[in-house]
Amino acid sequence: MPLEIVTVPCLADNYAYLIRDVETGKVAVADAPEAAPILKALGERSWQLDQVLITHHHYDHIDGVEEVRKATGAQVVGHSVDAGRLPPLDVALDDGDTHQLGTETCEVFDVSGHTIGHVAFVFHDALAAFTGDSLMAWGCGRVFEGTMDMMWTSLSKFHALPRAMQIYSGHEYTASNAKFALTIEPDNPSLHQRSEQVTAARAKGEFTVPSGLGLELATNPFMRAGHIKVKTALGMTDASDAEVFAEIRTRKDNF
Ligand code: ZN
Ligand code: FE
Repeated sequence: MPLEIVTVPCLADNYAYLIRDVETGKVAVADAPEAAPILKALGERSWQLDQVLITHHHYDHIDGVEEVRKATGAQVVGHSVDAGRLPPLDVALDDGDTHQLGTETCEVFDVSGHTIGHVAFVFHDALAAFTGDSLMAWGCGRVFEGTMDMMWTSLSKFHALPRAMQIYSGHEYTASNAKFALTIEPDNPSLHQRSEQVTAARAKGEFTVPSGLGLELATNPFMRAGHIKVKTALGMTDASDAEVFAEIRTRKDNF
């Protein structure tokens, strides 16, 4: 049975996601930037929240956790490594652990780099990955706490997943990410095609998240650091994939 997923806009440009296991009716929310929109979205559907899945410790992903916990009694789930900075965890997970939402299983990926102890929740059967500020639609999070090598290793974990995997990232940043991506591969028609789609979607007020992993692999410069076309475009054909990633991330920081 599939997952039913509802996108809940929060704050200025964050997303929380309600995730419902259709078979059992168990519901989780991936990140809780603020409580009110999440509680409203639950109430509109008469859904009972069972779990809060936290990707990382930044305020714009956890500020609503305690209010949501109080209102719903949901269990709070996060990375054991970051337990000291997260709200009190009922379930502390490590890299490679599996976690159940009803009959659906997700795998915990440690995708540190943006922060240490950042996780992605990957529902393999349902083809849904909740990635926070690691892999994002047409981008990736800024490397605040980890190293460039660490962030590249984290992003590389997504390379092996099925192309149909949907990437539910934490922000609506795609339109600004588009402008940067085009500076790296200005001659790649896939980027121009995606840019037109993003512009059209935003003009209609539509979300550009989730995005398919296949599209990210074809257009996201941070996922393409190992690609010969990208290395050639940057004049870095002899550099390692991680070095090319670091160059692209540094350019984005200064963009
Ligand atoms: Zn963040
Ligand atoms: Fe964020």
